Amino acid sequence: MNETETKTLLSKMQVFWPQQERDDAQTALWATKLGRIRDFHKADEAVALLMEATPFWPHFSEFMRTYNSLVSASAKTWTAKPENDRKCPTCRDAGWLDDEEARAVKPCPNCRSEQFDRWSKGAMTGRVDLDNWARA
Ligand SMILES: [Zn+2]
Repeated sequence: MNETETKTLLSKMQVFWPQQERDDAQTALWATKLGRIRDFHKADEAVALLMEATPFWPHFSEFMRTYNSLVSASAKTWTAKPENDRKCPTCRDAGWLDDEEARAVKPCPNCRSEQFDRWSKGAMTGRVDLDNWARA
């Protein structure tokens, strides 16, 4: 978060929890810690959630716990499997097919069409050693 975002969030918190006096040292500490956070919108969301959860200015650890749970909730889970669970009829989801002639593998034309195009044009051999050499 940049300085403007940090200030925005801190003044918002001051509005949400007005009963608590903040001294300069505490404010500076929060500003420093908030500055290390990457996602302003998630931080803003975390503050909004805490506002509903507690009448008191939260501890920073409580804020971080809320923030981190928001970040991990929105994180995309990466998987090697295709989104739909159907097997590719050509390669059975392996993505590669044996190329007897070249004694290597080639990309599946069905589910790796982009790589298959490059391979057809000769830009890719399917052999790691040769492809690395071509890229070098
Ligand atoms: Zn396939």
